[in-house]
Amino acid sequence: MNVTYKSTRNNNETATASQAILKGLAENGGLFVPNHIPAFDKSLDELSKMSYKEVAYEVMKLMFTDFTEEELKHCIDGAYDKKFDTELIAPLVKKAGANYLELFHGATIAFKDMALSILPYLLVTSAKKNNVKNDIVILTATSGDTGKAALAGFADVPGTKIIVFYPKNGVSPIQEKQMVTQRGDNTSVVGIIGNFDDAQTGVKNMFNNAELKAEMDKKGFQFSSANSINIGRLVPQMVYYVYAYTRLVANGEIKSGDPINVVVPTGNFGNILAAYYAKTMGLPIAKLICASNENKVLFDFFKTGIYDKNRDFILTTSPSMDILISSNLERLIYKIADESDAKDNELMTSLNTNGKYEITADMKAKLDDFFGGFATEAECAATIKKVYESDSYIMDTHTAVAATVYDKYVAETGDKTPTVIASTASPYKFTRSVMNAIDPAYDSKSDFELVDELNKLSGVKVPQAIEDIRTAPVLHDTVCDKSEMEKTVRNILKL
Ligand SMILES: *Cc1c(COP(=O)(O)O)cnc(C)c1O
Repeated sequence: MNVTYKSTRNNNETATASQAILKGLAENGGLFVPNHIPAFDKSLDELSKMSYKEVAYEVMKLMFTDFTEEELKHCIDGAYDKKFDTELIAPLVKKAGANYLELFHGATIAFKDMALSILPYLLVTSAKKNNVKNDIVILTATSGDTGKAALAGFADVPGTKIIVFYPKNGVSPIQEKQMVTQRGDNTSVVGIIGNFDDAQTGVKNMFNNAELKAEMDKKGFQFSSANSINIGRLVPQMVYYVYAYTRLVANGEIKSGDPINVVVPTGNFGNILAAYYAKTMGLPIAKLICASNENKVLFDFFKTGIYDKNRDFILTTSPSMDILISSNLERLIYKIADESDAKDNELMTSLNTNGKYEITADMKAKLDDFFGGFATEAECAATIKKVYESDSYIMDTHTAVAATVYDKYVAETGDKTPTVIASTASPYKFTRSVMNAIDPAYDSKSDFELVDELNKLSGVKVPQAIEDIRTAPVLHDTVCDKSEMEKTVRNILKL
């Protein structure tokens, strides 16, 4: 049966997969969700014998039913190639009592590459399938990692332009350097005076601006999104959970059908939602452990059923998770509201106007699959140091949030189910915070001295992504106020 997509805010607004990928966002701020999630049509044992690309095809063909086999395989082959520094694409590494699923072996050394290396292919294919003549303008808000991964994916892709907004004072020095040195005539990078939520809200407002849309159309442009609100990112993210599970089967760590837990360091709720979708497809995941940093709005939500963003926005050492409005949670809310667009609208209107909403007891009862936890800055630093000392393994600051929450979860529940921790970034991307966690004396060194020190301690080769920016010239220096995002887009597109 074909999977179609419908808006969380209007059950009558439907789209094929390729149309949903092209649009990014539904009308009036709604998000596209699948009308159903099919079960695997291969056994877990069969999947355990397949490569990453083969697993990717098996998962994506079930969700992107309007793509032909040839189209999907073309997208997968283009995405998961030599841009990754290992043929495994997402290696599973057993350290300190857990399995770290390393999702940072792509071109920009964060997990965003897992989906953003394929999104340009999916999008260009979707445009062809739907006879789109306009150039696609990818409008993206980033908390640091999506921006670079999307820029790398879309740079010089014919028929596309990409504009990235990042919080000027809210990303790591290496994240910023990676973005502002991006090459490609079709790329623009803009720092905003504001935080990630401001960037994301500004982008969503432009998507919903009918006047802007009409003007763009006249000039031969239309928007799409590279944020995880695009279903074209979520589905490719389901793949690596299936891959991780089936590697545990292949290694004999578990038997097919045995449960596992997954721990996901969470910001916009995209990565963990993909795990939930994989579970719905039939992957035996018991608990989905949602790990937050000190911006613990999700921890509070799972505990109380109240989502409340009215609080201070804290800048942490895991900046890609510094988010108070987790967009993808809306997809889960819609699901637990029995797919009621009316209920979803009511809660999202309340979030817009009061900054909070409360779910019903019935809805809360459907959240049993999830466990919310959070980690403080000091706890994360201690985890990085501890695992370095016990296993000579150096994890990044985001992964440390997940590892810390996992330790707390085991202490609280005694649950020893085999566990996969999503390791979302290379420590080289957050070198200063990682090295300071190991020894605060490192703080006196420069960013690139620290890169070399990290190399000495970990023995892990310095990734090409870091070598590339050591001497790269800055090519983007636009900064605007959060209120001037639309004006900036008009300037870039010469509207
Ligand atoms: C984006 C990001 C996250 C958060 O993922 P979401 O899908 O937004 O929940 C965690 N860690 C890193 C390194 C990231 O780049």
